Amino acid sequence: MGGWFDSHCHVQEKYLGGDHPGDGESDLDRVLERAASAGIDRLVCIGTGVATSRQAVAVARREPVSVGGSGGGRGPRAWASIGLHPHEASEGADGVARLLEEELAAGDGAVVAVGECGLDYYYEHSPRDAQRAAFAAQIALAHTHKLALVIHARDAWDDLFDILGAEGVPERTVLHCFTGGPEEVDRCLRGGMFVSFSGIVTFKNAGEVRRAVARCPLDRLLVETDSPFLAPVPKRGQTNEPSYLPFVGAAVAEVKGCDVETIMTGSAAAAATAFATMV
Ligand SMILES: [Zn+2]
Repeated sequence: MGGWFDSHCHVQEKYLGGDHPGDGESDLDRVLERAASAGIDRLVCIGTGVATSRQAVAVARREPVSVGGSGGGRGPRAWASIGLHPHEASEGADGVARLLEEELAAGDGAVVAVGECGLDYYYEHSPRDAQRAAFAAQIALAHTHKLALVIHARDAWDDLFDILGAEGVPERTVLHCFTGGPEEVDRCLRGGMFVSFSGIVTFKNAGEVRRAVARCPLDRLLVETDSPFLAPVPKRGQTNEPSYLPFVGAAVAEVKGCDVETIMTGSAAAAATAFATMV
């Protein structure tokens, strides 16, 4: 261990399959090999519903790819989260609650978090009351199973903090793909959360997010790709993948005025704490 930790990516079948139908498995090998070559040695594959959560667990249970033949190392170690994205909240959280019970029964440590769950009032693909109910239910699941909670939040800060206040912030909570500014990051930090930054920090118009990076202490700061979405500059517009994580880290290092290695080590340590993946 000692490389990058992609705290949030979707490399399960559904998200890999799109451009290469029927070729999901071998695509994953290539993606993980490129990740290993770029120095990514850990990742959490994030579920967004029952089917993608099940696929995320399958990624976590796979043998790491071997890289570079006999003298080479192993590909990234993977863990999974199980959860229902706010876009799908109308389905209700019962399905992911059942899946969580089933998968945790294996006792192999593959599942480290509940999520991604939360509120998205920007797209509002599910009605707001359904989003609030599914979010509250998943906070309760994180408490019950003593797992990390992975939160997706867009244009819904007040309701988000209200619900977290009512349900109690789980001890290890990650606000993923942070899109707020200094005020919102302060609220997250006061609530004891970890904050994860994506390729958005590399975007020209993301000054507020960079101001949030500046305020976030290293022991609370995670980095992620959120692949296949949100590829960082200079890959913007392409299909994102974990191997692009160092671009996110470099942008964070520039804001912090420190070297990239410090961000790599610091964010990986924070992610290992957030997901309790220390081995
Ligand atoms: Zn995501």
